[in-house]
Amino acid sequence: MPARVIDGKAVAAALNAATARRIAEAGLTPRLAMVLAGDDPASAVYVRNKDRAARQAGVAAETIRLPARVSEMEVLGEIGRLNADPSVDGILVQLPLPGEIRPRAVIEAIDPAKDVDGLTAVNAGRLAGGTPFLVPCTPLGVMKLLSAADVSVSGARAVVIGRSRLVGRPLALLLTAADATVTLAHSRTRDLPAECRRAEILVAAIGQAELVRGDWIGTGAVVIDVGINRLADGRLRGDVAFAEALGAAGAITPVPGGVGPMTIACLLENTLMAALARRGQAG
Ligand code: NDP
Repeated sequence: MPARVIDGKAVAAALNAATARRIAEAGLTPRLAMVLAGDDPASAVYVRNKDRAARQAGVAAETIRLPARVSEMEVLGEIGRLNADPSVDGILVQLPLPGEIRPRAVIEAIDPAKDVDGLTAVNAGRLAGGTPFLVPCTPLGVMKLLSAADVSVSGARAVVIGRSRLVGRPLALLLTAADATVTLAHSRTRDLPAECRRAEILVAAIGQAELVRGDWIGTGAVVIDVGINRLADGRLRGDVAFAEALGAAGAITPVPGGVGPMTIACLLENTLMAALARRGQAG
């Protein structure tokens, strides 16, 4: 039987509707500031998609566009201004940053209370210490997809491929907190296919089109494909060979239409949470 395809768009639409309802009930308009530096076309598309979804949910989004030749000092100055502006609830810096600008220096400049991407050391530390506040949007979206698809995480053998601060590492922490037994694999992992075959939940967050083949997937495994890879002809591919995986997996997310919409939905939920916390209300 071919795998069940998990519809990330539908799950994200439901989460966005819930966020919009909570915003209306709270009688507030959370404000999200997005810093877009340079002219990377993919970044421009991501920011536009976030802006559109934010407006639909009742979040006031604004994009601060900075030229490709902007200096690190100028970006830090912009972050300082947004930190100090009491009307701003969430700050997002779209990566990658141009030129010699150090992404870590810019991210660490964000007030952790407004860090809706959950990337500052303060928020990463809270997650690692078991008291999460603002959690990175993509791994949070993966957890919500698993829950919406009724995947039983507790006790499951989970393999996450990729150990970035953005996706793999925080996801391993979230899965561990949900009582999975987690293996965090990466480019130095010996015999990656064998590690993958043991997984009941397999998450690919690598950035290499179709690296994970059908025969790497254990029968009935749940496969979450975080990868977004653009082929030379413009088409998008995940990190998993989708057509091959359909024959082996029990359930799988597509690319596009899987994790991507969840990332945006979690960003909006985080923005609401930051807005409520800044007003002394529980998220
Ligand atoms: P990074 O480049 O920061 O990390 C990639 C990870 O994959 C690293 O840990 C690396 O290992 C590992 N890796 C690379 N090659 C291999 C290999 N051959 N075998 C095993 N592991 C390997 O990427 P990100 O975490 O930022 O993103 C991963 C993917 O997810 C990308 O395609 C990105 O576009 C996508 N993405 C999608 C989002 C969405 O909303 N759907 C949001 C964010 C990212 P090592 O540490 O050893 O170098």
